[in-house]
Amino acid sequence: ATPMSIMVGVGAGAKEGILIRNAESLERAEKITHLVMDKTGTLTEGKPQVVDIRSNDSEKVADWLGEVAAVESQSEHPIGRGIVHSAKEKEPSLPEAKDFESTTGGGVRATVEGSTIRVGSRKFLEGEGVSLDDSLSEAAETLQNEAKTVVWAARDETLLGLIAVADPIKKTTKKAIESLHDLGIEPVMCTGDQEKTAKAVARELGIDQVHAGVSPEDKQRIVEDLRKQGHRVAMAGDGINDAPALAAADVGIAMGTGTDAAIESAGITLVKGDLMGIQSSLRLSRKVMRNIR
Ligand code: ADP
Ligand code: MG
Repeated sequence: ATPMSIMVGVGAGAKEGILIRNAESLERAEKITHLVMDKTGTLTEGKPQVVDIRSNDSEKVADWLGEVAAVESQSEHPIGRGIVHSAKEKEPSLPEAKDFESTTGGGVRATVEGSTIRVGSRKFLEGEGVSLDDSLSEAAETLQNEAKTVVWAARDETLLGLIAVADPIKKTTKKAIESLHDLGIEPVMCTGDQEKTAKAVARELGIDQVHAGVSPEDKQRIVEDLRKQGHRVAMAGDGINDAPALAAADVGIAMGTGTDAAIESAGITLVKGDLMGIQSSLRLSRKVMRNIR
């Protein structure tokens, strides 16, 4: 490839907020057949808001929300930040939480007022010996089908209730996915979030392939498997948990709004985190590579 055309391409990208870190990414973008995308923070804003709280019949939300928020105040997870924000609107001062521990992709735990408070996925709480109440399961299912993420809270072995958070889809995401379809590229969603929630978001966006409840290593494996099948794979993500998959892709695309780990693992960064930048990158690549030949 002539360096001149590439440089012109890199310059044109920069003007649109597309930072191209290596020429290979621009060259390879032309032939991409699949785009694997993280959900939270990539397809969605990544700023979950609490939209519903349901208490176990024998408990009152006002009696436990502060304790849960006290634990979450030590978490860096966006869900935790949303819960703290919501709790502080009702009660500005939170109790003290000690011995905080976090399980990636599962949840968090700490001691508050002598009890162990746990918040996280169903699987996480069950793994910690908490049995979940069937009376809330139906409500949870309904909320998840509405694209909301449900997390569960417990004090010692007793279930307190559930908290539903909603993370709005970015304004330009739908159009961006449509333009991928127009370019003949298959979108694939990959998320640590639960299946029903992931599928509800995918349905709204017209994405047929969904991998939910996956770990960072799973994300990487999904990218590698597609490549082994002979596909040319781009991966878009924003989090530390996306870094291995970004590095494993033919073209890694990080959200400029995301973490440094993601940006450092990617060849292309979309400064504003606008997914329309993906189709612009692909079009740019096609143009540059045409000029070279
Ligand atoms: P994603 O790939 O969507 O960013 P994560 O792997 O970060 O998802 O998290 C997966 C799931 O783990 C969340 O949907 C939630 O159920 C649970 N979880 C993780 N951290 C927390 C937390 N601090 N509080 C409550 N739930 C959590
Ligand atoms: Mg993310």
